[in-house]
Amino acid sequence: MSAMDTLTIKTENKFRSLISKRAYTKGELICEIPTEKVVNKANRYTVQIERDKHTNVGKLAALNHSCDPNVILDTEHLLMYACKDIEKGEELSFFYPATEWEMDAPFICLCGSSSCIHVVAGARFLPLSTLEHHFLNKHIREMMIELLENTEQHLSKIIS
Ligand SMILES: [Zn+2]
Repeated sequence: MSAMDTLTIKTENKFRSLISKRAYTKGELICEIPTEKVVNKANRYTVQIERDKHTNVGKLAALNHSCDPNVILDTEHLLMYACKDIEKGEELSFFYPATEWEMDAPFICLCGSSSCIHVVAGARFLPLSTLEHHFLNKHIREMMIELLENTEQHLSKIIS
């Protein structure tokens, strides 16, 4: 049985979710992230794995966003881990801004978590005080640093 066989897609009123057929403990590897088709632009079915690389991820496209997620997608090593203990039959979710810089289809989150970010549009639209509480992938960290370093030009505009 491959790791992917432990995951199943549930569809309810056209709303898809990814359900785990077994329990996982926090920190446990769940599966590899499939890179079925790599494209250079985000769409609602892709996960961003590098600055200019977005990939179709097969079954994992059914993963919903949560502001209080139970899985982490490590796009540098293409692995998905449990970041909480997960029960059999539980829905899996991850924090979309951990992989997405600017999303193609932003939406309003109604997860009800006390740490809900409300507008899910990508990491570049979130304050550092929110981002610091989440695992962020390497490409997201690099783009944040780049964004901040670009602010140096404000000084040269003022003093020149
Ligand atoms: Zn939320």
